Amino acid sequence: MDLLEYQGKQFFAQFGIPVSDGRSVTTVDEAVAAADAVGYPVVVKAQVHAGGRGKAGGVKLANNADEVREHAGNILGLDIGGHITRILWIETASDISEEYYVSFTLDRSAKKHLGMLSKEGGIEIEKVAVDNPDAIAKIWVDPVDGLTEPVCRAWVEAANLNPAVTDGVVALLLKLYTAYTEGDADLAEINPLIVKTDGNVHALDAKVTLDNNADYRHEWSEYEATQVRDEREQAAHAKGLQYVGLDGTVGVIANGAGLAMSTLDVVNQAGGKPANFLDIGGGANAEVMASALQVINDDPNVKSIFINIFGGITRGEEVAKGIIGALEMVNIEAPIVIRLDGTNAEEGRALLAPHLSDKLVSMPTMLEAAAAAVELAKKN
Ligand code: GDP
Ligand code: MN
Repeated sequence: MDLLEYQGKQFFAQFGIPVSDGRSVTTVDEAVAAADAVGYPVVVKAQVHAGGRGKAGGVKLANNADEVREHAGNILGLDIGGHITRILWIETASDISEEYYVSFTLDRSAKKHLGMLSKEGGIEIEKVAVDNPDAIAKIWVDPVDGLTEPVCRAWVEAANLNPAVTDGVVALLLKLYTAYTEGDADLAEINPLIVKTDGNVHALDAKVTLDNNADYRHEWSEYEATQVRDEREQAAHAKGLQYVGLDGTVGVIANGAGLAMSTLDVVNQAGGKPANFLDIGGGANAEVMASALQVINDDPNVKSIFINIFGGITRGEEVAKGIIGALEMVNIEAPIVIRLDGTNAEEGRALLAPHLSDKLVSMPTMLEAAAAAVELAKKN
């Protein structure tokens, strides 16, 4: 789950990371009241799930109420990379002497946390990585060892920051590491991490992605309310399905994320375009199958549906019963192609046989099923 900047700053503040005082608002009048409360000058900042807000005109300095009114009026409703600004964050402006970059994320192949630190902050790190890769100091932290003070200090020294601020940066990075690990984040990025003219180190921006698998350990419901999902994804999410909306015409249902991914590939290979990713998980009972079919059926772009199930622990006849039961529960418009393989696939196909028609087709292999689904999508 991606946090907005102000939520990321609230998250950081819980771990003692210094951030500016501010308020989140949704109207121009509230923006002025917030600025009056935090004290001028302030920065008016668009709160959208996108970076590059500064360049897009979504970050403006205001010295008085009139300027707040003007900037807030311009930024509310501003389109930043396809995201319309509906929330502003008004914070006390900072006097900056240096802008650095820092982030923690998971390096899955190394099975370690990856920390990146650079004195070239404020600009996109992707650009630094291309133009000046030596300006990024990387560190891989074993989650069992954690980030110790001496290791953190060596990392900060390797980044060639202003030596006068080493202690302050080390202290902040140790807190950021704690926020990232104990807070269950997948990404914790500060760009820019600033040194103020008074020498204090401070998070001027916040980009935080929380690991949804850990939400049971936390109180994240307030963040949930600001998540921007496509309508189909919202409906699927409410039904507990792993669904990602795409823009093709072949609706896809598979069991297991890996099989669902390869199903998207074969649909493409067969010359079609998948309408979605949908993993129904291990058990393919009638309720889950019905929910999945319902979500796909509600997508007006879907012209055919490809159900790709490999029976494992869930046997073929259970899957077949699930599909038959689901079709009794929901009225599906698009033709369905089923590929059922794995444990007891033959028994499953035998159960399906009497139900087959030109709207419910069974194919023995994944590629044949994909080809049939793509053809049906083109015909409809
Ligand atoms: P982004 O463009 O979405 O990454 O938004 P940021 O929050 O990083 O702001 C963009 C840039 O605006 C920063 O790199 C700073 O240069 C500038 N900026 C943001 N807040 C302040 C502030 O309080 N004081 C000053 N002087 N500049 C700021
Ligand atoms: Mn930034």
